Amino acid sequence: MPRDRASQDPAPGDRAAADRAPHDGARGDGAPRDAAPEPSHAYLDQLRRDTEGRKGELAHHLADHRGAAQELHERLESLVDAQAQGLTRVLHLLHENPETAFQEHRAAAWIVEYLAAHDIAAQSPVHGLDTAVRAELESEDFDPGRHRTIAVMSEYDALPGIGHGCGHNVIAVTGLGAFVALVELLREDPRAFSGRVVYLGTPAEEGEGGKEIMARAGALEGVDAAAMVHSYPVDLVDQVWLGRRQCEVRFHGRASHASSHPFLGRNALDAAVLAYQGLGLLRQQTPPTDRIHAVLPEGGERPNIITEEATLRLYVRSQRPETLGTLSTRVTEVMEGAALMAGVGVTVAWDTSPATLPVLGNGPLSDRWVLAQRRRDREPYPAGTVSEVLAASTDFGNVSYRVPGIHPLIGLADEDTGLHSREFAAAAATPAAEKAGLDGAYGLAAVALDYLTDDDLAHDVAEDFRANGGGISVPDYFA
Ligand SMILES: [Zn+2]
Ligand SMILES: [Zn+2]
Repeated sequence: MPRDRASQDPAPGDRAAADRAPHDGARGDGAPRDAAPEPSHAYLDQLRRDTEGRKGELAHHLADHRGAAQELHERLESLVDAQAQGLTRVLHLLHENPETAFQEHRAAAWIVEYLAAHDIAAQSPVHGLDTAVRAELESEDFDPGRHRTIAVMSEYDALPGIGHGCGHNVIAVTGLGAFVALVELLREDPRAFSGRVVYLGTPAEEGEGGKEIMARAGALEGVDAAAMVHSYPVDLVDQVWLGRRQCEVRFHGRASHASSHPFLGRNALDAAVLAYQGLGLLRQQTPPTDRIHAVLPEGGERPNIITEEATLRLYVRSQRPETLGTLSTRVTEVMEGAALMAGVGVTVAWDTSPATLPVLGNGPLSDRWVLAQRRRDREPYPAGTVSEVLAASTDFGNVSYRVPGIHPLIGLADEDTGLHSREFAAAAATPAAEKAGLDGAYGLAAVALDYLTDDDLAHDVAEDFRANGGGISVPDYFA
């Protein structure tokens, strides 16, 4: 009989009662269940308390670069706010018509249309992707030997089944609004700044590495720095984003009758199971924030046939490119060892879609982001406020190791709302999301303007990048 726990459920919001309620960490009666019990939330609650504690403790130590003149920032801000209606329309159009990776045809068309409405010509398709968008702005005096180029980026792909649960519809309008504001600033005053701004609409962030495909096709040629902002529950200047590699492993056995001639078979499923268990043991010796997750999508057809072919598909994630490389090597060895134990063959195919590097932050650019957000009455929390345990991956990592870049987070949801949830998808269409779209647009435009205008800032941005390991050759880093 399944146990009925309804009578013990705590009232919503009764945290103390929730902690006392039965969960899978409480001592049970050992009886089988007909459903997985609710995991204890005690660890998540601890992380939240830790975050709360750090909110008062950590502080920004902002460098005192001049940036662009205050009157330019005032103009820029009003040029963003003047787009409120148009940007909000795009935000909702994308939200109501979610398109998954590589299928963002309407999204790309709406972005191109928005740019055209502001007399800006765009390229799409571009950089090897049907749904990518590119537009450029150059000051009249632009000289690539003397002046700088910065890219601002939009994402707009959605998640299968839950729409804009990552809030990319908001991200879309931040890059778009920033670029249009900078175009109009230069139209009003051709001497407002010298340099070049590249707008990149970057599809297929979710699981497909669209930015890596675009970068290999030349999207970042001549680009000195890059900026985008991601939707999040709270404002956070920077967070840990793990590097990620994908791997597809195939074990090749020999089919045989499992009862009459088992000794003539070699079982690929045995190898896959040993490999899966080997990953479990490997986790003991990895850094605590490394991640390994695997599925076994193919393990045989019938119990009376020794499994001839088995597949194991996995992701590994790590905080540093170097540790991601080490983890990949260990995983390959576990796969090969499992194949040896089962007496089968194995093929290990890494990077079935482009590897994602961790995000390399940039202190001086992040400082400009914080100052810009303060103009919008927002106060992003310093990096480290939210636990590094709560980390995912983004293809912006591959941009951030090519050129200095920032990937701050802008808040639009209740603090307990996780990304990739239905709740976050709902939050991405609220007035808070519309405001985040405008504040994010101004933030990106302001960072770009400061970077193009202030030589000392640009110098320190490049120094910070070099000092932290930027500039590696991304496509062949794991080759
Ligand atoms: Zn996502
Ligand atoms: Zn996302």
